[in-house]
Amino acid sequence: MLSADFSVMGEELEKVVKAGADMIHLDVMDGVFVPNITFGIKMVRDLKKKSGGKPFDCHLMIVSPEKYVEQFANAGADYITVHYEACKENLAEVLLLIKSCGAKCGLVINPDTPVEKVINEIPYCDMVLVMSVFPGFGGQSFIADVLEKCIEIRKIIDEKKLDCLLEIDGGINGKTAKAAVEAGCDVLVAGSAVFGAEDVGKAISEL
Ligand code: ZN
Repeated sequence: MLSADFSVMGEELEKVVKAGADMIHLDVMDGVFVPNITFGIKMVRDLKKKSGGKPFDCHLMIVSPEKYVEQFANAGADYITVHYEACKENLAEVLLLIKSCGAKCGLVINPDTPVEKVINEIPYCDMVLVMSVFPGFGGQSFIADVLEKCIEIRKIIDEKKLDCLLEIDGGINGKTAKAAVEAGCDVLVAGSAVFGAEDVGKAISEL
């Protein structure tokens, strides 16, 4: 939803739901963890009414996410993902907290964070999100180097037979989607490629 027109958020959501989006990705930014501010709990709660039953995937780009996960879960977040870079040694604890609030949990790593930093936490996750741009703004170009990390995480998920989705976020469009899927990604986050398209349905089906 980061690339949607925020003045008509509900209509934008209904448009992508109708056009066949599988999941709705909500980028929550606090202006501290990332140099941009988007929206918070109330936006998630209000949009949930227009979700058409599609799962809400809340990507928290905020400091101290543990303070807010319960509120996001109560607002209707089905998945809540938190950054390794925002949690560090508390990461496992925050993941378990998310689960205890009734949501599915996920961890996120920035393009410059190696997989080994989160290797012990991956088994706790319902989803692992690899950032393919540095978080903060929509419309950035895809960093292809992160595909190596996707391959590495895919291998861990498959070898350990984990019930865990692999998601990629940043610069995903009709061209980069193929490489991401080939690297083992299950969930593709697309912003500009969808909301910037003339035909939203066509953009989604191309992905
Ligand atoms: Zn995101």
